[in-house]
Amino acid sequence: MIIILKQHADQAAVNALRAELEAMGLSIHESMGEQEHILGLVGDTKAVSESWVLASPAVEQVRRISEPYKKANRKFHPADTVIQIGATKIGGGNFAVIAGPCSVESPDQICLVAEEVKKSGASLLRGGAFKPRTSPYAFQGMRAEGLELLRHAREKTGMPIVTEIMNTEHIPLFEDVDLIQVGARNMQNFELLRAVGRLNKPVLLKRGLSATLEEFVMSAEYIMAEGNEQVILCERGIRTFETSMRNTLDISAVPMLKRMSHLPVVIDPSHAAGINWMVEPLAQAAVAAGADGLMIEVHNDPARAKCDGAQSLTPAQFQALMEKIGPEAAFFGKTMN
Ligand code: PEP
Ligand code: MN
Repeated sequence: MIIILKQHADQAAVNALRAELEAMGLSIHESMGEQEHILGLVGDTKAVSESWVLASPAVEQVRRISEPYKKANRKFHPADTVIQIGATKIGGGNFAVIAGPCSVESPDQICLVAEEVKKSGASLLRGGAFKPRTSPYAFQGMRAEGLELLRHAREKTGMPIVTEIMNTEHIPLFEDVDLIQVGARNMQNFELLRAVGRLNKPVLLKRGLSATLEEFVMSAEYIMAEGNEQVILCERGIRTFETSMRNTLDISAVPMLKRMSHLPVVIDPSHAAGINWMVEPLAQAAVAAGADGLMIEVHNDPARAKCDGAQSLTPAQFQALMEKIGPEAAFFGKTMN
């Protein structure tokens, strides 16, 4: 249920209403926008009668929400959420690019790629330390040592770091990671979602390989329900019957997610395509569809990459992409961060 308050509602009346609702065991999510002041109720609202709420002098309108997601729901929070990571903002008209290798491979590799992508305009550095690989025999990442190398690259470049967590037990290792990624394969690892929900740091949540958008937003809701409302949604391609690409980029997810939720939406064209030449057109499509950012894999030597070389751009290809994306983002009313 959402309660739309009257403009300039009397604060004492608002407080009295809040207190009564809280006494009924409901938690209240308050959103004060420029246009609307909203109280979103989370919990079992069946016992709350609309006419009783409307009787409060502070209330303009009451609406029942049919969707199972509440805190992530656009109806609870009509304005776009803006998430800040260091000096970078994502959402609400701010556009940012996350770039870096699939995996951290060596001190030289991560520092070189970090410097290159920064020069081209990326504002956040990605790099996998703990890798979710389909085969147990494939490179599993440098693990804790990879995190250390990311920190070192951050020191050298000043770029905030983005890396994937796979296990709740690893949370202490991720204490100073700037943006924690929950990967596609863990989108419904509910214990992990709850655990990152108890942290006070932004989370990049990737859509599961066969997740519906409602399931995706419900996973964001898991994180938010624990108190962490700094969630960025990332569409990274889904499984379809098509086999000519690694996945199928669901570009329709951008406008639909933005209608469903106030959270920022980022596109990862690299994992969607699986092929480097497709990354640029998909990135352009993402900008045109209204995405708030991109996540792109870049490697100094893609042919020798330990993971996902086929979809990785060289630094020069990344620079060429950024030269197109910058003006396009501006054309679509976004500020490059
Ligand atoms: C990644 O970004 O490194 C990754 C493994 O992506 P996904 O979870 O989307 O497969
Ligand atoms: Mn990858």
